[in-house]
Amino acid sequence: MTQRKTELPKATGLLSVVSTPLGNLGDITVRSLELLRSADLVLCEDTRTTGMLLKHLGIQATLKSYHAHNEHIILDKILAQLQSGARMVLVSDAGTPGISDPGFLLIRHLLQHGVKVDVAPGPSAILPALLLSGFPCDRFVFEGFLPLKKGRKTRINALKTEARTIILYESPHRILRTVKDLAEILGQDRQACLARELTKIHQEIIHLSLAELSKHFESKPPKGEIVLVLQGASKD
Ligand code: SAM
Repeated sequence: MTQRKTELPKATGLLSVVSTPLGNLGDITVRSLELLRSADLVLCEDTRTTGMLLKHLGIQATLKSYHAHNEHIILDKILAQLQSGARMVLVSDAGTPGISDPGFLLIRHLLQHGVKVDVAPGPSAILPALLLSGFPCDRFVFEGFLPLKKGRKTRINALKTEARTIILYESPHRILRTVKDLAEILGQDRQACLARELTKIHQEIIHLSLAELSKHFESKPPKGEIVLVLQGASKD
């Protein structure tokens, strides 16, 4: 006689993608706090950065590194833990995971294996910069960081006729070169907005043309975190 195995109900794991403040702790959401408090494991880029954030928020959690250098290697281990019922949270150093930060590979891998993924929306540098630019925000494109070498010119050339508002991330030590490269191809008069240190005490929003921005930074190199927003190309 063959015996049928009793099927145990499958444990339902969950990965919650949680955004963290860009600089102002007040931007953490109530839902994010609850998810961080109740997580079995918090996956984070840098355990020290997230550890400090959680300490400020009065939350104790088990942290595990998940960053650009190990994300390929640990996908299956995380999958197995979720398949056995773990509740995990994914955060990055600041802002929304997956947006110019690790996250995409894991989310795709889990969805392909039928694991539940949810997102608790919150801070990201894209939208505050877009709104503060005063450029049309009904349609926009996010370009992330421009490549440093290969494909850089091609990417900028492709933006020449882009009519939607364009959002770029950049680091302070590369911004001058990027503004100059953009001015050369998109035109010196293209209007731009530079949003620096968003949500922090020294937040600064500068509205200038690309030529003016380049001049501005030649005399005063910027510091801190930067989003560059460009007005879309005019129809003519
Ligand atoms: N995941 C993040 C998000 O959702 O915005 C982005 C991470 S990416 C590694 C870091 C870049 O985001 C910075 O170089 C800068 O372009 C932008 N950024 C992050 N925080 C910012 C802030 N407070 N002010 C301006 N830009 C910021």
